[in-house]
Order: sequence, then structure tokens, then C-alpha cells
Amino acid sequence: MILEIDMDWRRNSMRNHTAEHILVSQLKRIRPDLQLGYIWIDAEQGTVDMKGDFDSATIFTAEKQTQEIIFRDLPVRSSMVPASSLSESIRAREGLSAKYNRLRIISIEGVDDAACSGIHVLSTGEIGFFKVTDFKVIGDATRIQFLTHLRAAHHVQDIYNEILSRKASYPYEMSQIGPVLDKSKRVLIQQQEMKELITSLLADYEKAVNVAGVRFVNHYLPGFDAKDLRNTLKGLPSKRNSATLLFAPGNKSSFVLWTHGLPHDALFYAKEITEKLGGRGGGSKESFTGGFASVSNPREVFEKLVKGICDKLKSG
Ligand SMILES: [Zn+2]
Repeated sequence: MILEIDMDWRRNSMRNHTAEHILVSQLKRIRPDLQLGYIWIDAEQGTVDMKGDFDSATIFTAEKQTQEIIFRDLPVRSSMVPASSLSESIRAREGLSAKYNRLRIISIEGVDDAACSGIHVLSTGEIGFFKVTDFKVIGDATRIQFLTHLRAAHHVQDIYNEILSRKASYPYEMSQIGPVLDKSKRVLIQQQEMKELITSLLADYEKAVNVAGVRFVNHYLPGFDAKDLRNTLKGLPSKRNSATLLFAPGNKSSFVLWTHGLPHDALFYAKEITEKLGGRGGGSKESFTGGFASVSNPREVFEKLVKGICDKLKSG
């Protein structure tokens, strides 16, 4: 039993160690300027620091190429050579380069030759499966962590199934997990903005400004949509001589202007500035509903809208 565990441990170290050679060779193939830094390999996982500035796409391309080399089941050979015969292209790991007269070279046919004294598999197919599990920038290097063989397969299965198990309660396509996470991030930001808004409303409930004798209330309401605006308006008290602007920000921003007891229709106060800002809208006597498409800075549109309506209230 102990022997079995030890063999498993040793074979995994060999897989991880050889996988490290392949990954680093592929990173350097894409980006010859990258330099190998710290390496830590055990039976659990591999850790490699690569010095230089590169992005996640480089890592993912190298990962795919590493897996292809594994599937090609290439022989891994070792040989002893005089240190003086080493070419520039053969990577010598830290601490190996100057100390020895003869060095052990690990060659993966057509892929990589590297000076190394570690333990390796006999052919790349023994690695089975390779997966980068994390990467982060540490100083001038990017630290990449990876798994191989069953550990890699089980890790991918566990993560995939974590997502898959939620599909019944929250339907989405598996390939859309990126946009789902983006949306969740947006919602968190909006939630924070809403909390700040609620706090400010609680502190100043009568948040109306007096514009030429008119009570003008305006609110920027992150997380709201056009329907939410209509529902919110229904719950507001109607006060004489007032104008209320509710704005729902987003890539498509919507707003409602609700007037009460003013000399002109709501249209008079809102239409001109809406069109000037590239939006569209319409309304009946006391309300005007408008919207803007492809808004990159909704806060700026809101502020210009408020100013435009203020100007009209003063003129009217
Ligand atoms: Zn090695």
C-alpha cells in the first residue's frame, strides 16, 4: 500500500516535471523574450514563474499547444553532455549552469532540449491531461500553476460540474459563463450604487431643488429599468408646482419626467434637450418618457438632461 502511494507520488512528480518543460518551451516559442524564474514541482502540482510582460491569451495558447504535444506521445530522452558543448538554445535551470562539467539534457523530440537533473516520464503521452489552474502577477513575473493527469481531469470536472449543477435554477448556456460573470459583476456595482443612493435619500428625504419657484426632484437610479420607473412614479405623491425626473442608467438609458401644475406640458420641458442629446421620447400632458441608446457615460447624459430641464423651467 505504501509502495503504491509512493509510486503514484513519484509518477505524478515525473508528469508534472515533464509538463513544466513543455509549457515553458511553448511560452518561449510564442514569446522568446520571456525568462524562466522560480520553479516548484511536486506530485500535487507545478508552479512556474515566467519573467516578462504577457497576458492570459499567451498562457492559454501555450496550454493548448502543451496538450497537443502530450497527445502526440513524443519520446522524452536524457543524455549527458559536456557543459562546454551546450548551445544557447538549451535552457539551463537556475543553479545548474556553471557548477558542473557535464550536464544531463532532457530532450523532447522536436519540442525542447533543457539541462535538468529532475525526474521525467519516458513519453509525453504519460502526462495524459494538462490544465493551468491559476496565474497571477508577482513583481516582474507571472506565476503559473498547473495540474496534470487525473488531478487535472478531476479538477476540470469538479469546476465544470459546479457550474452545470446550477443550470436548472438559473438557465444559461455553458459557453456563456463569461458574460454571466460579467453581468454578476455589473449587478454588484449597481447594488453598491443603489445602497449609496438610498443612504443619501434617507439623509435628505426632501431632495428637491427650487428652480424658478418649481420643486424639481431628480434621481439617478442604477439597477432600474423603464418599467421600474413607471412603478416608482405611481408611488410618489403629486405636489403642486413640481417636476420629478427619474433616470434609469445603462447602455440603454430611460427616463420619465412627471410634472404637476406647471404652465406647460411635460413635453415642453424635456423634448428639446432629449433630442439634443441624441435621444428620443414622447408623452402626454403631465408626463414625458424618453430614452437613449448606446450610452457610454449615463451619468453625464443624466447631468446634461437635468441641466436642460432646469433651463426650460427657468424660461417657462
Ligand atoms: Zn526537468
